[in-house]
Amino acid sequence: MLLVKCDITKTITERPFGLFSMKYDLHCHSYFSDGDLSPSQLVEKAVEHSITHLALTDHDTLDGLTEARRAAQDTNVTLINGLELSCTWEGLLVHIVGLNVDPSNKTLQKAVNDNKSRRLVRAEAMFEDLEQNGIDVKESVGKQISNRGVPTRPHFAQALVEQGYAKDKKQAFKRFLVKGKPGYIPMRWPDLETVGNAITASGGVAVLAHPMRYKLTRTKLSWLLKDMLEAGVRGIEICTASTDKQQVAMLSDLAIKFKLLGSVGSDFHSNHQPWAMLGRVETLPSTLTPVWDAFH
Ligand code: AMP
Ligand code: MN
Ligand code: MN
Ligand code: MN
Repeated sequence: MLLVKCDITKTITERPFGLFSMKYDLHCHSYFSDGDLSPSQLVEKAVEHSITHLALTDHDTLDGLTEARRAAQDTNVTLINGLELSCTWEGLLVHIVGLNVDPSNKTLQKAVNDNKSRRLVRAEAMFEDLEQNGIDVKESVGKQISNRGVPTRPHFAQALVEQGYAKDKKQAFKRFLVKGKPGYIPMRWPDLETVGNAITASGGVAVLAHPMRYKLTRTKLSWLLKDMLEAGVRGIEICTASTDKQQVAMLSDLAIKFKLLGSVGSDFHSNHQPWAMLGRVETLPSTLTPVWDAFH
């Protein structure tokens, strides 16, 4: 019996690596936040792209995870429970992804509900601000969210496009949804510590999302990483849909220096955004410890 067991092990380890290759995408959005697809459609897409491990990481909500898990059940996709929480660090909006979280954890649920409330209050203020400029997007935003999702700026951008105030979402952001524009409401999100603690309390791993997006100098990024570590954030996205080789090398250096786990995620939102397609991310450099090593 023992012999047979050994034989099997040998056969498995000697198989060409490709047969067992894993493909991770640990950052994407469904229509429970600002994505276009349902969680089931996302899982279907993951199957099409041979993704073996998919984390659904909607903004400030866990509501899509049940459907995603059900959809992944009879597929080769392992669903990782995730989310993306907004926080404020030094006046800057920073996104922290939580991976392998327990959605039933009360501390995490409180952090999620706090951010949801902030979003609802902000949406009302945005409606008012836009109304004062003669623009009424209530119906369109309401229809998009349809009692399911949390209100996000992309919902407003879509409404503004539909009603002819901008040619595309990018222009809608530029004209209305950023600092100094008529639909912009400044936000105070919770601090890094609150968000990091909530994810950690739920058994998850907190990861800095898209570190290049903040346009920080290397020195300032190092400050963020240092503060992050103190807040219990243990990982950093290294390979995203938009990081080039040089950036991956720079981020990998920082990850090693700060002993951070490396993550990979496309931040997929929609089939209409070809620059961030599901699964289209480089593999993590082998010099780094992957974040999934910390999933238990
Ligand atoms: P919110 O969390 O509601 O403030 O919305 C932030 C989301 O808006 C991000 O996660 C992106 O998906 C999207 N976003 C941010 N800036 C832009 C932009 N300039 N153009 C299009 N989408 C954007
Ligand atoms: Mn988004
Ligand atoms: Mn983000
Ligand atoms: Mn995201």
